[in-house]
Amino acid sequence: MPETMEIYIHIPFCKRKCNYCDFLSFPAAGKQMDSYMEALRLEIARTARDKDQLLPVRSVFFGGGTPSILPPAQIENVLSQIRKEFDLEEDAEISLEANPGTLDREKLNAYYKMGINRLSIGLQSTDNVLLKRLGRIHTKEEFICNYEDARAAGFENINIDLMSGLPGQTLSGYQEELQSVLDLKPEHISSYSLILEEGTPFYEDATIKRMLPDEETDRKMYHKTKEMLLENGYERYEISNYALPGKACRHNLGYWSRIPYLGFGLGASSYYPVDGQLARFSNEPDLSLYLEAPFVSFGERKDYEVLTRNSMIEEYMFLGLRKMEGISLRDFEEQFGIHPYIIYKNVLSSYLKDGYLCIKEDRLFLTEKGIDVSDYIFRDFMLVID
Ligand code: SF4
Repeated sequence: MPETMEIYIHIPFCKRKCNYCDFLSFPAAGKQMDSYMEALRLEIARTARDKDQLLPVRSVFFGGGTPSILPPAQIENVLSQIRKEFDLEEDAEISLEANPGTLDREKLNAYYKMGINRLSIGLQSTDNVLLKRLGRIHTKEEFICNYEDARAAGFENINIDLMSGLPGQTLSGYQEELQSVLDLKPEHISSYSLILEEGTPFYEDATIKRMLPDEETDRKMYHKTKEMLLENGYERYEISNYALPGKACRHNLGYWSRIPYLGFGLGASSYYPVDGQLARFSNEPDLSLYLEAPFVSFGERKDYEVLTRNSMIEEYMFLGLRKMEGISLRDFEEQFGIHPYIIYKNVLSSYLKDGYLCIKEDRLFLTEKGIDVSDYIFRDFMLVID
């Protein structure tokens, strides 16, 4: 059984909905936010008291939405509640997602003082025209001001989220954007390619679709990200995540390494041992229903599923292979009592032969060629057992 766990706190509020966003997030009034934060604290307290054996917590992640939309005291109350109810490791990573346009010097100072030690800033682009098109609420200049204030407050671990493949974005423009972020020397950079999600304004917009870079340009942006970041001393530790040595996000790594986590708040998902068996389950995604009953026993949660040995094996493969270090063959065998080559004989031999996967000593990982088609490869690891 696992020895440590992580906590995710979902703050679903944003100032305004971005044009590409399909996350569980929405604009909210002050009163609604107050009730939500109260419900959240209740959920944390009830969950902790309901569990006899809580694991030591190695990371806490405030995600959203836009957690930085809240007054810092609200975040501090939740963090104190976690400290009170859980065994938070002394050097735990405590991250907060923050969006320019909701930040100022006072807030940043307050976050740092309350013990938040990692800031993840949703920048997405440094081109003001693109930012406006995306429906973001900030400019590049506001971001830079926030970034400098965060450094002045004491933050030594900052992530910047970027996006490529944006409508109207060119390869040279993207390169310039990336360079201007590199000039700031953040410890961590995530860069994801835009995906048009159903139900978003972008999805419905024919003009936006016409403005998207073609597939080849999109690929080039993706490769440029890797090239420029590696040149600047970053290590790629996951398909879309890069960090300076020692600064990989512990919380994300935990997720890909199947460390148990409890998610608190609207729609938050969890992966946690219940009665000795690992299970996945989710919170209520409807705000009024969540506010009515913020705590529900684990077994009654949405999509409650005890993981079978087969689904654990599948997850081990497709989550583990997202990491550039891949998976340990020995560890797999120790956990499941069988060598992966026996279960995945056909898939593995074909991908290894064609150069999509590679084995070095004990580790199996994606090659560059494999990363380019990783979604297809992961699918094969899922289908083969069923
Ligand atoms: S700030 Fe983030 S969560 Fe909020 S609407 Fe924009 S993309 Fe979605």
